[in-house]
Amino acid sequence: MILTYPNNFLKKKTKSVNYFDKNLNEIVKKMKKIIVENNGVGLAANQIGLDMALFVARPKDKFYIFINPKILKGWEEEVKEEGCLSLPNKWGLVKRFNKIYLEYQDMRGKKKKLKTSGLLAHIIQHEVDHLNGILFINKAIEIYDLKNG
Ligand SMILES: [Zn+2]
Repeated sequence: MILTYPNNFLKKKTKSVNYFDKNLNEIVKKMKKIIVENNGVGLAANQIGLDMALFVARPKDKFYIFINPKILKGWEEEVKEEGCLSLPNKWGLVKRFNKIYLEYQDMRGKKKKLKTSGLLAHIIQHEVDHLNGILFINKAIEIYDLKNG
């Protein structure tokens, strides 16, 4: 089940993940399933009630898992449209970086660094915000309701 705004749990900063075990595998498996079922491009663990600094991104059809992520640098600010599974029917215009450089840990706890751009960079910034208790409506330049049809 996905928690939706204004659930207070979504406003809380998540705790670091310290165990890279079977339980983590199960959580990630479940998150991937939820993303597919809801046709999403990303999901943070706290959106399903887990106090863990972890998210799954799915630009196009490939999954990326980021644990304890930290964005170190960003370039080329741009305004893009975005939505969120925790805010059904809301969309907004948000200023994000087109290119970012981040550090994170993989499923085995290995420390990694990545420089990426475009859709994946955009998703990462949205999800890292989630892990810090920030929703896109907290920083959107403009918010609007999704029109039917
Ligand atoms: Zn979201």
